[in-house]
Amino acid sequence: MEKVSLIACDDYEQSKVDSAVSKAIELIGGIEQFVKPGQTVVLKANMLMKCNIEKAATTHPSVVEAVGKLVKNAGAGRVIIADSAGGPFTEGYMNGIYKTCGLKDVAERCGFEMNSNFDTYSVDLPEGKVGKHFLICDCLEQADVIINLCKLKTHSFTGYTNAVKNMFGAIPGLTKVEMHGQFKTLDVFGDFMYDVLTYFKDKLVLHVTDAVVAMEGAGPSNGDPRKVGAIVAGANPVAVDVVALKLINAEPITMPFIETGVSRGFIDENLSIDVLGDKIEDLVVADFKKIQPDNFKPFANYVPRFLQNTVHRLMTQRPTVRKSKCKGCKKCFEHCPVKAITMKPTKKNGTPKAHFDYNKCIRCYCCQELCPFGLVKVKSGIVYKIVHIGSRKKVKNKTK
Ligand code: SF4
Ligand code: SF4
Repeated sequence: MEKVSLIACDDYEQSKVDSAVSKAIELIGGIEQFVKPGQTVVLKANMLMKCNIEKAATTHPSVVEAVGKLVKNAGAGRVIIADSAGGPFTEGYMNGIYKTCGLKDVAERCGFEMNSNFDTYSVDLPEGKVGKHFLICDCLEQADVIINLCKLKTHSFTGYTNAVKNMFGAIPGLTKVEMHGQFKTLDVFGDFMYDVLTYFKDKLVLHVTDAVVAMEGAGPSNGDPRKVGAIVAGANPVAVDVVALKLINAEPITMPFIETGVSRGFIDENLSIDVLGDKIEDLVVADFKKIQPDNFKPFANYVPRFLQNTVHRLMTQRPTVRKSKCKGCKKCFEHCPVKAITMKPTKKNGTPKAHFDYNKCIRCYCCQELCPFGLVKVKSGIVYKIVHIGSRKKVKNKTK
């Protein structure tokens, strides 16, 4: 049975986070179980984009600091904080994110390093199910040990993001967009994520979730911060995700990533987990605003071909931008993996604005992550809205 620890943590005061993280890791065997003296340890945080810490889109610096200090005390030779965000994997781009996410300060204060290796490494994985050849960030290849410091959030494509999805940041910068183009549907994309986890299985030893303040609603970048008050830790990323999902009152097996984790043998079908420390039922946030993963496409297959795109649109969410607000910077247009965005001049003054072709769009939400002005929002189809209202009511009744 998988072991996952769960420790309540009220807020991000450093002493509270230090204590919660230390207890959580102690309960699953102690840091010495995962890190040996002299090793190079990469702390793989979630640094999605350049945004304020208060937005709850990125791993909180106090959690990175707490884990880094434990790793250092265990005798690690180097402690390197790293990630590849939604934009280019370059020093200039990442330096700005390091600063905004509050991690540069942590590194300077605690004697850690911020990753300065922006090389890529080409992986051959013959045993991969869908990902047999792909690029990863070389800093992860060079590490002896990787510790995954994920943030619990909703995600418009995958339903949620936590330990499993956080490793998509192993793929360098804009190569992520190519991967979305290659692995368009949620089930195939899920298989790719498990190929990535398979590649790292010997060195990716520990997963720690920052669920002190999670993101609810339109995640992974446009949602709202919501206190959950917990740190979750474990050696199995799927088991950590299952516990994290229960904290936000989501049924884990309804999430395609968890289903794929079962089918790929990362966890048994009963999701058997021994939760150590605090109890899930004492910390669960019953009315957490969740989103459905975008897995409605199969239903569209039951209607005539000429109606499939319309049905899909009605049943799902989609990216959208208000034409009057779009600055015409072309970031989304340049990086959409399936060329679903065109820049169309407006009648008023001829300025090109982003226009979405929903028949081509695969709902990867790269455009949402990449828009430097945060203008790409998620819009729900009418059927999706009805289904969602129903599920919100159910949660309300439950908590009475
Ligand atoms: S329009 Fe946006 S969500 Fe749709 S495929 Fe392109 S980048 Fe992805
Ligand atoms: S990235 Fe944002 S501002 Fe730039 S073109 Fe796309 S929607 Fe408009």
